[in-house]
Amino acid sequence: MSDCIFCKIGAGDMESDIIWESDSAVGFRDINPQAPTHILIIPREHVPMIADANEEHQELLGDLILTAKKIAEQEGIAENGYRLVFNNGDHGRQDVYHIHLHLLGGRQLTWPPG
Ligand code: AMP
Repeated sequence: MSDCIFCKIGAGDMESDIIWESDSAVGFRDINPQAPTHILIIPREHVPMIADANEEHQELLGDLILTAKKIAEQEGIAENGYRLVFNNGDHGRQDVYHIHLHLLGGRQLTWPPG
């Protein structure tokens, strides 16, 4: 999608702090971090939101979660724990409509979220 900022980041057409790349996914640091480690993991394929995903996207979604696990190890936060979040739609406070998995860690997180 030509007007999607995360498509642009995935394609290397927009500057970002990329820390992980594979054929299927890209991981980069959130521009407005909510924790010492705050990484976004996106599929290279443009899917706007979790609500749009179907059986065809099973591998894509599993890949995002396993990629987040590997990035957490790379970032040194795996032992203490971390949080993985998909925001979906308006009430989920989704701002960017290209599926992305938030990886948050490096401090004690609270629950419930706001
Ligand atoms: P969400 O509310 O789940 O859609 O989250 C979107 C996230 O993208 C927010 O945490 C933003 O800080 C982050 N973000 C927006 N633009 C950029 C960008 N150019 N580079 C890195 N992170 C971004």
